[in-house]
Amino acid sequence: MTTPADRNPTKEANAKETASGHFHLLDALDRQLEDWLETRGEASYRLGQIRRWLFEQRAVDWNRMSDLPQKLRQALTAGLPLWQTQIAGHTQAEDGTEKLLLSLTHGGQIECVLLRDQIRRTICISTQVGCGMGCVFCASGLDGVLRNLSTGEIVEQMLRLQHLLEAKERVSHVVVMGMGEPLANLAALLPALAEAHRPDGLGISTRRITISTVGLPAAIDQLAGSQPHYRLAISLHAPNDVLRRQLVPTSQPLQSLMAAADRYFDVSGRRLTFEYVLLAGINDQPEHARQLARLLGRREAMLNVIPYNPVAGLPYQTPSSASQQTFHRILLSNGLQVQFRHRKGNRIDAACGQLRRSEKGGGHPLV
Ligand code: SAH
Repeated sequence: MTTPADRNPTKEANAKETASGHFHLLDALDRQLEDWLETRGEASYRLGQIRRWLFEQRAVDWNRMSDLPQKLRQALTAGLPLWQTQIAGHTQAEDGTEKLLLSLTHGGQIECVLLRDQIRRTICISTQVGCGMGCVFCASGLDGVLRNLSTGEIVEQMLRLQHLLEAKERVSHVVVMGMGEPLANLAALLPALAEAHRPDGLGISTRRITISTVGLPAAIDQLAGSQPHYRLAISLHAPNDVLRRQLVPTSQPLQSLMAAADRYFDVSGRRLTFEYVLLAGINDQPEHARQLARLLGRREAMLNVIPYNPVAGLPYQTPSSASQQTFHRILLSNGLQVQFRHRKGNRIDAACGQLRRSEKGGGHPLV
């Protein structure tokens, strides 16, 4: 087994606080458009028109905005680039899952995913190029983190995924579960999620927006102190500190993580979700299930168990269905609310970081 010492997530230290530091209109759409319109003596109501075109009509360029005067459209096309990514890959699975690999104008590649599940249309977005958390089984962090994404780069993922929908489909849920650690980039993420939530943005209820975190207690408290309150999912993966430090080398003591999680629940009233990736022979034993039940206790929480989605070059395996069932049964008999999640889009490498990896063609450096 790969040990944490083999995996060195020190590149985290190199992540820039302020993302790329380059201009992106979607970094602060209202303010930047207002300024631009005002400087040119254009009416301020154009902002509302443009927002409708972007978020409701799903316009892909300024020229589609047919109720703007042609001269204005030309000036916008010449002066204000809308997008800062190029689509470098687009894969589609039979179950309706679609994945985009985006090359960023200001460096790096990221992935984002659209999941179709009955009437749900969930978009899964990234917050960093790479990841600095070093979870040993995850493809996103294999090369550490290059940088934080900007607000605009996060909003752009949402809009680009929305472009994949048919006219009668609507984005119903947002999950921040793509590449990167969202709570390490809260400053850019929160304004992006505000665009997802605003009635003149994507109009998605906060109950349908979930931030998934490896569990940084101080940042969870920061999130609890800001409004609005989104759903929080905490990637636990282990029921005790020894095992958790092996799987999540940057992890903080479980006691402080659970205390921060409880404070978030108290402040937000939102039921917490805990995620547990099941790795054969590592964290899938009956004793782990019993410890997990003790750790979560009577908390108002949902436990999402995710059988491991193998990553090329990493030595981890999906548990057999017999051991999955045993694990599941123990959790249920201890009164936990459990969901066994079967990952969608496996055949298109939909798990985070995997498409970027296969495009690079690089094997894992450690094996
Ligand atoms: N950094 C955040 C969000 C990104 S990862 C976090 O840790 O929550 C989103 C979820 O996918 C996490 O629970 C992560 O552990 C899980 N994951 C990563 N690689 C996986 C894989 N190969 N198979 C199954 N789940 C995986």
